[in-house]
Amino acid sequence: MLDKRKFYINGQWVEPSKKNDFDVINPSDETVCAVISLGSQEDTNAAVTAARAALPSWSNSTKEDRVALLERLYSIYQRRMDEMAEVISIEMGAPIDFSKAAQAPSGTSAIEDFLNQLRKFEFEEQLDDSDNQLIYEPKGVCALITPWNWPISQVALKVIPAIAAGCTMVLKPSEIAPLDSMIFAEMLEEAGCPAGVFNLVNGDGAGVGSQLTSHPEIDMVSFTGSTRAGALISHNAADDFKRVGLELGGKGANIIFADADEKAVIRGVRHCFSNTGQSCNAPTRMLVERSFYDEAVEIAKETALSTKTDIASKEGKHLGPVVSKLQFDKIQALIQAGIEENATLVTGGTGKPDGLETGYFIKPTIFADVNNQMTVARTEIFGPVLSMIPFDSEEEAIKIANDTPYGLTNYVQTQDPERAKRMSKKLLSGTVELNGKGAASGAPFGGFKHSGIGREGGEHGFNEFIEVKVVTGWN
Ligand code: NAD
Repeated sequence: MLDKRKFYINGQWVEPSKKNDFDVINPSDETVCAVISLGSQEDTNAAVTAARAALPSWSNSTKEDRVALLERLYSIYQRRMDEMAEVISIEMGAPIDFSKAAQAPSGTSAIEDFLNQLRKFEFEEQLDDSDNQLIYEPKGVCALITPWNWPISQVALKVIPAIAAGCTMVLKPSEIAPLDSMIFAEMLEEAGCPAGVFNLVNGDGAGVGSQLTSHPEIDMVSFTGSTRAGALISHNAADDFKRVGLELGGKGANIIFADADEKAVIRGVRHCFSNTGQSCNAPTRMLVERSFYDEAVEIAKETALSTKTDIASKEGKHLGPVVSKLQFDKIQALIQAGIEENATLVTGGTGKPDGLETGYFIKPTIFADVNNQMTVARTEIFGPVLSMIPFDSEEEAIKIANDTPYGLTNYVQTQDPERAKRMSKKLLSGTVELNGKGAASGAPFGGFKHSGIGREGGEHGFNEFIEVKVVTGWN
């Protein structure tokens, strides 16, 4: 068992001010894999004070200094990539091959993206042909709060642009999966990140999370997590007008027309189940044109039946467990709600897959004959559970897809390009993916409606950490 009780504050690994141990559980076998500390107000204050003290110097560092730091970080990260993949696999249950192929490399992708943004960013420019100068300054001291499902991806999408913009920060990663962030802190330390620029305090939402979002010395909160916590954070941050960036939940619709390519249903099921369904942009509602619906249900069933589930340390392609007992219980209750509300259980259901009694394993589950008012169609389940809904027309598909409080990512599958474009303009979401084509590096990611405020990644993600100043009479 790893002892990870210390915090990283002002360039040092320090003991928490009060003992408050918290067990990190390996969801594959329910054993304690590490112990961390949950911070207190004193720890939060120490980290915020360090970040505030480091701001004048870091905000005046040159672009070259920042590029050099991120380049050093990039090579250290590459050297420790396998270790990063292993720790993510242990703490949140991502199968090791998936962790190596997708989870861990998301950190270096973010570094590459923001190095690219930083190199081309002009921190000053003239406004058209006026005598006004626009000066782009770092927003200030940032509180960065992240979840467990894509842990290092979400950390890197905040820490890297904050560093690049010249901000200083306190990171509070998810207490459920904090170990990747602690390795990341070690990497920043080795890369020579100046003391106080990056600080890490572990803690829960009610403790360090709330302390950060209401702290008067914090200028900006960037949060990824549940819509519930996003609303609480917005209230907390309102008193002193902190800038708030929120990446929240989703309930994506995957609209499949009868003319879709032959892999569309298989791809949709696999995408929904990927990361054991624990992705905010998962296409969890599959809307299928009625003439193709019965066939699509059969394909979905076969795809789910051929999906293996196993412990995270086992090599190969399979689903791992969900992250925690809490998530397991929540998903079981939602599957039960689907059954009770008379959705047709095509495959899967409550209980654990055979042979996996220990660990938080869920049966890959497909519901058919779902209508959009059922609990399984309205609630973000965050497990490998797909709801299939028939539709008769483009208009009806759009109406169903948009009938949700969320608006993160929607998907359209059709071989009619005009229809695809028409649909994409009517869907209320930050991203629309057509025919299985993923977003490019540097594409802004974020949501409409209850899915959040602001964007992460690329130029838009970089600008979140920038404040703009106009100076008149410059020339
Ligand atoms: P969560 O909201 O419970 O926790 C996320 C983080 O916020 C954790 O670090 C937690 O300690 C902290 N937190 C919780 N309550 C808080 C509060 N009141 N004040 C401050 N901090 C608080 O979410 P989770 O269960 O860890 O993550 C799953 C959720 O995250 C899902 O809803 C998912 O859709 C969402 N998510 C969204 C995106 C996106 O980019 N839109 C990406 C990943 C996950």
